[in-house]
Amino acid sequence: MENIAPALLDWFYKNRRILPFRTDPSPYHVWLSEIMLQQTRVAAALPYYERFLRELPDIPALAACDPEKLHKLWEGLGYYSRVRNLQKAARIVCEQYGGDLPADYDALLALPGIGEYTAGAIASISFGLAVPAVDGNVLRVFARLYNDDGFITDPAVKRLFTARVMDHQPPDAPGDYNQALMELGALVCLPGGEPLCGQCPLADLCAGRKAGRARDLPRKAVPKARKQTEVTVILAESPEGWLLQQRPPKGLLAGLWQPLTFEDTLLEGPGAVRDALEELGLDTGDQPRPLPGAKHIFSHIEWHLHLWRVQLPAQPAPAGCVWASCQALREEYTLPGAFKACKKEMGL
Ligand code: SF4
Repeated sequence: MENIAPALLDWFYKNRRILPFRTDPSPYHVWLSEIMLQQTRVAAALPYYERFLRELPDIPALAACDPEKLHKLWEGLGYYSRVRNLQKAARIVCEQYGGDLPADYDALLALPGIGEYTAGAIASISFGLAVPAVDGNVLRVFARLYNDDGFITDPAVKRLFTARVMDHQPPDAPGDYNQALMELGALVCLPGGEPLCGQCPLADLCAGRKAGRARDLPRKAVPKARKQTEVTVILAESPEGWLLQQRPPKGLLAGLWQPLTFEDTLLEGPGAVRDALEELGLDTGDQPRPLPGAKHIFSHIEWHLHLWRVQLPAQPAPAGCVWASCQALREEYTLPGAFKACKKEMGL
């Protein structure tokens, strides 16, 4: 196939979105933006990106940030392991590289939370290194461009596509080329239906378009069904505020705060809810009352939330828990999005 880079770059320079991490593509900016954009749309991520950089303008500031404040800066973006890994990596960068990301693909890849794609994006965009940065957008473009039926979830197929991406990469503009491919996938070669081939600079070269198969590509293995689980949540209030417990330091939503939560547990009826409170050593007050249920979908698990609300007398919080006023909940504690239905009930 003829080299796609000239037409692609020409299109990119005329059509790219002006984004703050493009205007000032320092390694820290590119790193932060790529981590934020992993699960979040550009428009939704931008206010978070700007606030994060106002609070933590460089890697040493990120390394030194109090973890609760860090969670607060990420609140609403979800997938909190991303920000915990950012900080772990920032601390390593301070210890090993004097606070600046290394201009080395393998050294970047060795940092927590930085996979092949992110390492490639930082190395090519910020340091001008000739490496690939292949995300879902790029895989989709190449599956269509080559009319290739390979499952893009298959590592061997991904390796082949990555080799093709590199066949076209111009040595003098690896970062722009990588960004142009991502931008083409985001703006023109769209997922989930008909791509905008009429606006595509690669239309004359595209085998998928010529074969009339573009919308059927790429092929992906059918994802595994999510685990369904019942979760009981008790919103317990006393004159000192709402009862919060901290999640374990490892695993799902690690270290974040939540109302009293019983995973894989369906407490049926107010009697069972009272028993659960008493087991924690709490004096129960009024009869617990049920609230409308809710659902939260994580990537691999689906929570069916059964909500209860109860008023308790003033008393010490059980081990691992605190009483938190609404103001403290707004300013200090980070409640994950899984508890969105609870936040409304708690007046947040
Ligand atoms: S011609 Fe259409 S299918 Fe081919 S790369 Fe462009 S937008 Fe995608």
